[in-house]
Amino acid sequence: MTTTTPTSTSTSTSTNGALIELSGMSSGYAGVPVVRDLDLHVDPGEVVALLGPNGAGKTTTLLTVSGLLKVLDGSATVLGEPVIFGSPHKMAKRGMGHVPEDRSLFFSLTVAENLKLGLRGSRQDQREGYDRALTLLPALRPLMDRRAGLLSGGEQQMLAVARAIVANPKVLMVDEMSLGLAPIIVERLLPIMRNIADETGIGVLLVEQHIHMALTVADRAYVMNHGEIVLEGIGAELAGRRDLLEASYLGDTVLPEEAVTADV
Ligand code: ATP
Repeated sequence: MTTTTPTSTSTSTSTNGALIELSGMSSGYAGVPVVRDLDLHVDPGEVVALLGPNGAGKTTTLLTVSGLLKVLDGSATVLGEPVIFGSPHKMAKRGMGHVPEDRSLFFSLTVAENLKLGLRGSRQDQREGYDRALTLLPALRPLMDRRAGLLSGGEQQMLAVARAIVANPKVLMVDEMSLGLAPIIVERLLPIMRNIADETGIGVLLVEQHIHMALTVADRAYVMNHGEIVLEGIGAELAGRRDLLEASYLGDTVLPEEAVTADV
């Protein structure tokens, strides 16, 4: 198989103080690697999109960074320290927020009760986290007494993000926020992620199926295929390179030399 090689060297090294840094990282299930040799970083205030077809390894990558899957080779650090396998709560305490694909909301509880479950730290931390979440996601304010199960899909996704924000994370990973949502709702939600990064300095790692919408808000993007990163670049530049994106999704397409060496 010939894959697109990463095309931009300018994006491949992190600045000092990366919130997430993967270096040659491999991980998978039952000791069998599913993602291999990943180099990826997320800096403060950045939105980074992790793209790729179904089964590429995006969720596996996020689960590893959260400490739910073991690093089999290479390294994974969060806020400068190695990821602690098997202790997602310790990773959360360190400042890792993770909104999983299934959103993990408690449908029989109200919006306010779901948010309370995300609170951590001192009373002041909790108050700040709560205020911050509702400032960033004000559409939830009139819904505080509504059961999560009665919210629309978009509102549930906002609640899942808000529940992560109340814990005052320094880095936030969101797995397929658009799953099951109409494109028009995704168009409204993605700028919220941009705003969260801009307003708070939180680094956001976004797994997204809506490639072009994701690239409108992302500073940088990585495309995974068959467990490897096959393309990376600046979001706005990749958005204009449909040829590279299509080739990276197809995975085994032989690209014209011009495309492989283009500086995206
Ligand atoms: P999707 O967009 O469909 O969620 P993805 O890029 O997130 O795809 P992953 O869910 O990370 O992909 O899956 C990567 C590979 O790992 C797939 O081949 C999948 O079948 C395999 N896989 C996922 N979960 C498990 C598991 N619990 N045990 C074994 N293999 C798994």
